[in-house]
Amino acid sequence: MKSSGLHSEALERYSRQINLPEIGEHGQRLLKKAAVLIVGLGGLGSSAAFYLAAAGVGRLGLMDHDMVQPTNLNRQILYSVEVLGQPKAIAAKDSIKAFNPHIVLETYTHPFSTENGPEICDNYDLVIDATDNFNSKYLINDLCAALKKPDIYGTASGFEGRITVLSFKQGPCLRCLFPEPAKSSQESNPVLGTVTGVIGSLQANEAVKIILGIGDVLNDRLVTFNAKTTTFTEYTIAKNQNCPICK
Ligand SMILES: [Zn+2]
Repeated sequence: MKSSGLHSEALERYSRQINLPEIGEHGQRLLKKAAVLIVGLGGLGSSAAFYLAAAGVGRLGLMDHDMVQPTNLNRQILYSVEVLGQPKAIAAKDSIKAFNPHIVLETYTHPFSTENGPEICDNYDLVIDATDNFNSKYLINDLCAALKKPDIYGTASGFEGRITVLSFKQGPCLRCLFPEPAKSSQESNPVLGTVTGVIGSLQANEAVKIILGIGDVLNDRLVTFNAKTTTFTEYTIAKNQNCPICK
């Protein structure tokens, strides 16, 4: 153990990012102390979870009530054919543990709800919304707005993905942008795996920036990614002063 509180193994493992002046050993300690809840362990959650574990975020909450199915494997890189039929949260834990054994992993195999959400969210610094349906997204939004926890929102459908950061500093919540959930569910929509990879990685990127207190967080912008044209488009977003959830 060095005086920085980081083991020599950690200093080596994370050296390529510790050597960034914006991070250093202080930043690595901030990452180690941080706790992130990932709701939804599909395509978005897979890449977000791997990159947060790779960065050395000390504690990850892994939440999903589904089992691993063959149709998941075009994008959900946490899983292999050996874990088909297993609960995703448990299979994800095994996969991340093999990749980085120094991370504390907590699993939740039940759906996120208004009953269990407050207690679970309270244990984490921020939430990554990697769910694939609007009901869950509004549930996570309303809770994060009430608890004042950053909600890193992502979607992926077809060849397009979206990302923004909600309920962070003076930024809006989801209901400021879209007061009610869209009628159609995204669940089972066709999607290109790389789109979930790009958006999930960007969600992890926003989490790392918030933990480290660096860069410009996406709390006043919504960014879309078009995989066909490889273009990112940015939209300015703002709080609705009459929003019933976050005003
Ligand atoms: Zn709002």
